[in-house]
Amino acid sequence: MSEEIKEEALVNESGLNFIEQEIQQDLAAGKNGGRLNTRFPPEPNGYLHIGHAKAFIMDFGAAEKFGGTCNLRFDDTNPAKEDNEYVEAIKRDIHWLGYDWEDRLYYASDYFPQLFDLAVRMIKEGKAYVDEQTSEQIAEQKGTPTRPGTDSPFRNRPVEENLDLFMRMNKGEFPDGAMVLRAKIDMASDNMHFRDPIMYRIIHAPHWRTGDTWKVYPMYDFAHGQSDYFEGVTHSICTLEFVPHRPLYEYFVKELADESYCPRQIEFNRLNLTYTVMSKRKLLQLVKEGLVAGWDDPRMPTICGLRRRGYTPSAIKDFVSRIGYTRYEALNHIELLEHSVREDLNKTATRVSAVKNPVKLIITNYPEGETEEVFMDNNPENPAEGQHAMPFSRELWIEREDFMENPPKKFFRLSPDKEVRLKGAYIIKCTGVKKNDAGEIEEIYAEYDPDTLSGRPGADRKVKGTLHWVSVPTAVRAEVRDYDRLFAVENPSAEEGDFRDLLNPDSLKVLDNVMIEPWLAERAKAGDHFQFQRLGYYTVDPDSTPDHLVFNKTIGLKDTWAKIQKK
Ligand code: ATP
Ligand code: MG
Repeated sequence: MSEEIKEEALVNESGLNFIEQEIQQDLAAGKNGGRLNTRFPPEPNGYLHIGHAKAFIMDFGAAEKFGGTCNLRFDDTNPAKEDNEYVEAIKRDIHWLGYDWEDRLYYASDYFPQLFDLAVRMIKEGKAYVDEQTSEQIAEQKGTPTRPGTDSPFRNRPVEENLDLFMRMNKGEFPDGAMVLRAKIDMASDNMHFRDPIMYRIIHAPHWRTGDTWKVYPMYDFAHGQSDYFEGVTHSICTLEFVPHRPLYEYFVKELADESYCPRQIEFNRLNLTYTVMSKRKLLQLVKEGLVAGWDDPRMPTICGLRRRGYTPSAIKDFVSRIGYTRYEALNHIELLEHSVREDLNKTATRVSAVKNPVKLIITNYPEGETEEVFMDNNPENPAEGQHAMPFSRELWIEREDFMENPPKKFFRLSPDKEVRLKGAYIIKCTGVKKNDAGEIEEIYAEYDPDTLSGRPGADRKVKGTLHWVSVPTAVRAEVRDYDRLFAVENPSAEEGDFRDLLNPDSLKVLDNVMIEPWLAERAKAGDHFQFQRLGYYTVDPDSTPDHLVFNKTIGLKDTWAKIQKK
C-alpha cells in the first residue's frame, strides 16, 4: 500500500513520471542546446528480458514523447562473454516492441581508441596508475564504508613508468590479471567507488568486433559516461544500482565535457517479477543446462520467450505503464502482467473451439451421417468481426472433466439425466454412458432438443451449464503445450540455496490429443492468438506445421489480479 502512495507521488498532474519531469525541466532550461538524446545500452551477453523492456520503453518512449532521439548502443567491453548472436536477438526484440534506433546504432567498442587516449592523458596528468597487485590485494585495501582504504604501494609510481607499463599491457606482454590501470582519486572517500577504481584490465580474448587490436579493455565505469559523451547523449537513464556509481560517472565525464554539453545519469527502480528470475547469469544457466528449451522457451521472462508464449507488445507496454517508474525497489506481481495480457487478447483474439481432454458424446436421437452448420461469434467483444460456421453432427468431442457420473451439488456441467447447452447449438440431456473393462467412461450418450437452436421456439430456454465441443468427423488433432509458472516459489531470488531446486516441476504439460475445429486448423499460423472457448488464450507456436499444429497456452481466462490487489 505504501508503495502505491510513493509511486503516485512521482507522477505529476500531466501524467509525467519523475524522469520525464526531469527531462522536461532540462529542456525548458535550455540545457545541452535544448537537445534530448537517450540511449539503451545492453551488453550483448544474453537475450533481453522484460526488465530490459522496462528500461528501453523509458529510453525510446521519452525520446518519442519529447521529440528527441534514442541510440542503441551495445556495451561490448568484455570480449570473454559477448557474441553477435545476442546482438541480432536484441535488435529483433526492440523492433518487435515497436521501437527503432534508425541510423543510431553504436558500440562501446567504437570508442576504444578515444577511451585509450583519455586513459593515456590521465596517466600523463598524474590521474591514473598501473597497479601490479592481485585483485585480492586490491579488494583487501579497499576498506569498508566505515574504514578508509589503504594506498597501493604502486600508487605513486612515476608517470613514465605508468605510461610504459600501460602500453605494454596493451601489447599483450602481461597475462590476464597481472596488472590493472586505476584512477588515482581518493582511498578515503565515503563513496567506495571513488577509492581508486579500476579503469582498464587485461583480457587476452579476441573481441568479436575489434579482433586482436586490444589487450586491455575498459571497465563499465570508465566506458559508460564517456561513451554517452562521445555520442551526444543528454540523459543516461539506468537502474537504481547505479546510484552509487553516479559521482564516478560525473568524474570521468568532466574530463571531457564543458558547460555547453554534459550528459547526466538518472536512475529508476528495476522490474522484478514474482515466480521468475531476471538475472542474465541465471537465465543463461537455465538455457545452457537444458532446464528450459532455449532462450525463447515460453516459460522464460525473455522478450522472445514472452513473444512465443503469445504475450503481445501492447500488453507488455500496458504492464510497464501500470507498474511505473519510481525510486523504490519493488517486486512486481506476475498476475498484473497476466492481467494486461488477458485484457489485450480479450479484445483481439478470435474465439474458437478446442477440446483438450476429449471424450466422445453421442447424440442418439440425431440422424446418423447428417451434418449441419451452426454459427459461432468470432469475438463477442467486437461484433464487427462476425461469425464463422462450425459443423455439428451426431458424434461430438467434449471435455472429460465436463462430465461426472456422481456429481456434487453445484456441478452444472453434464451428468446423468441432467441438461446442458452445447455452445452455439442445442440443449442436450444425458441418457447414459458406456464404460470399458477398467471402469473408465468410453462414450457418453445424450438426446438433443431440436427446438433449442438459435432462431427456433426453444432457443431462449435456459439451462445452468454450457459446454464447448468439436464435431468428431471433422475434428483435427493438435498438440497443446500447457505452461505454468517457471518457479514454484514467489520470489526465487530471495531464497537460500540453489535456485534450480526451486523450479516448478509442472511448468510444462504436453497434450498431444487435442481436438480442434476445422476452421481453426485451416487458418492457424505461427504467432496467431486465439481464445479456446472456456479454456483460455492460446498462440500458435513457430514449431507448428499444417500437418502437426502446435499451440502454446498463453494465459487462462480467470483473472487472478483482482484477488491479489485485495490482499
Ligand atoms: P548484467 O548483470 O549483465 O549487467 P543487466 O541485466 O544489467 O545484466 P545490461 O545489458 O547491462 O544487463 O542492461 C541494459 C540496461 O537494461 C541497463 O541500463 C539496465 O539498467 C537495464 N536493466 C537491466 N535489468 C533491468 C530490470 N530488471 N529492470 C529494468 N531495467 C533493467
Ligand atoms: Mg548491466
